[in-house]
Amino acid sequence: MKYNSGKFSDLAELQLGKDLWKFLNEKENIIRMELATEFNKTAAESVSKPLLDKFGSDVEVNRVKQMIGHMIRQIMENKGYEMGSQNIKVTIKRLFSKASKYKDGTTKTTKIGYINRNDQENMGNRGVEGNDHCQKAYKLKCRKCGTEYGANGADIFQRKCPDCQNGQSGIPY
Ligand SMILES: [Zn+2]
Repeated sequence: MKYNSGKFSDLAELQLGKDLWKFLNEKENIIRMELATEFNKTAAESVSKPLLDKFGSDVEVNRVKQMIGHMIRQIMENKGYEMGSQNIKVTIKRLFSKASKYKDGTTKTTKIGYINRNDQENMGNRGVEGNDHCQKAYKLKCRKCGTEYGANGADIFQRKCPDCQNGQSGIPY
């Protein structure tokens, strides 16, 4: 995936910016951030040590740290995590003193990776409202034909693919 650098475009174009994006997208670091989320910790603190080990003082510059936070947000949201709370004080201050917590679904069927009996996989919440009372929309992926569509959280367990299983049409993303 490509980094949408926005206000950090100048930094993102430097070799450091490119290397940071690549590094944060490495499987190992994604697992660290996912585990931190599972244990209700900020994603950034879980990669602080690896970042310092690899990049040294280059990552201690404030604006670079802000860009790292911006990158982490895109990576986590792309994985289907939702922004939980921002500006959380980090317990072990290696690199960041404040960072963001992300969140996954709180029930079995709303968790990223859940697969229902019709082979529809939960790809997470993308911050889209559902179309039922107080519902959030989740992105589902049909493991039979690859179609991706939105569904209300409460419908996940029984959802059928709109393309190959005659399910109702998805909520647009
Ligand atoms: Zn399908």
